[in-house]
Amino acid sequence: MSYFAKVPQAPADGILKLSVLSKADTNANKVDLGVGAYRDDSGKPWVLPVVHKAEQRLAEDPTANHEYLGVGGLPALTSGAQKLIFGADSPAIKDGRVYTIQTISGTGANMVAAVFLKQFKQPQDAAVYISKPTWGNHRSIFETAGHEVREYRYCNYTTLGLDISGMLEDLRKAPRNQIVLLHACAHNPTGIDPTEDQWQQIADVIQERGHFPFFDCAYQGFATGDVDKDAYAIRLFVARGMEMLVAESFAKNMGLYGERTGCLHAVASTADAVPAVSSQLNRLSRATISTASAYGAKIAGTVLQDTRLYNEWVENMGEMSRRIKTMRDLLRDKLVALGTPGTWDHVSRQIGMFSFTGLSTKQVGVLRDQFHLYMTDDGRISVAGLNSGNIDYVASAIDQVVR
Ligand code: PLP
Repeated sequence: MSYFAKVPQAPADGILKLSVLSKADTNANKVDLGVGAYRDDSGKPWVLPVVHKAEQRLAEDPTANHEYLGVGGLPALTSGAQKLIFGADSPAIKDGRVYTIQTISGTGANMVAAVFLKQFKQPQDAAVYISKPTWGNHRSIFETAGHEVREYRYCNYTTLGLDISGMLEDLRKAPRNQIVLLHACAHNPTGIDPTEDQWQQIADVIQERGHFPFFDCAYQGFATGDVDKDAYAIRLFVARGMEMLVAESFAKNMGLYGERTGCLHAVASTADAVPAVSSQLNRLSRATISTASAYGAKIAGTVLQDTRLYNEWVENMGEMSRRIKTMRDLLRDKLVALGTPGTWDHVSRQIGMFSFTGLSTKQVGVLRDQFHLYMTDDGRISVAGLNSGNIDYVASAIDQVVR
């Protein structure tokens, strides 16, 4: 009998399954609205022009080599990422209260945070609270690391906006000193973000209840085109003197999906805590990846450290976020013009890569089987998959299915 005979089948990953189905579909009308990666108006992956420039610079660097990065990662990336997320003038950075370690993109940052919290959370029986719904991998990562995972209300499924009272109530009613996972901006899968005033209320409850915030920031600059606006919540919590962990990904905002470039930041209330925390994060990183991956870090580090390239990057992000916003507005306008039953303003109001359309699982199935239109079963579409060539077809398909 096989040594592996008792290994049970793992549950299928919905998004990966969808991608396989979509790839196998050769119909000319096919539209893939599942994949969480930016596409340009011709439906193609987009290498940011600024990334091209950074790559050229690296290719021409006579001192370049393929040595291991040091423990902690590439300083050009980690120091640039710190300033990007907390602000160049952040008192927390100036006070030496922030430690940043390079990770395997945002997913790796989540996993390092999950393992670190499992080992050092206070109290040890604290659960991790995730939004309902959230990025599918959050539960998987935190459960894999051994945490109990619970949910707080987030989406109002009637208005497809934020259920702020439900969220605040759940965070208030949770036992004290829990871990709360928050999306810094461009909530995945709903595209629903709290307003600045609502973030203040969320911070109030988290502080009152002694919860520990873990921010997952996978879309900074990609959401609004403004890196400072997208970091509002994180900077608000830091300004209030709160401690936290922050996962940061450069997959979406720099288009470095496959390069697996990201960071995990720990913000402590005193600099005294940093040596021990950094030593543990370095140990965990050493035990899992030994050293971080170099190529994407060199690209992102080059962009972050050079004022001209940095400004060009901000323009590139603006282009992505504007195109997505245009597609949101167009889809809403077309559905309204078709007289499609229901209200569609939420498509425009939501933000970031995704829109939670409100389509039912059954409607999603019909769209897939009869119209070759691929989206996740919860009705989430990747707005980046829409373009001027397919928007009429998508609007008409949704219209027919909703009627
Ligand atoms: N966190 C959230 C909320 C995401 O949406 C994603 C990607 O979809 C990630 C983390 C991780 O992305 P990556 O590991 O590609 O940086």
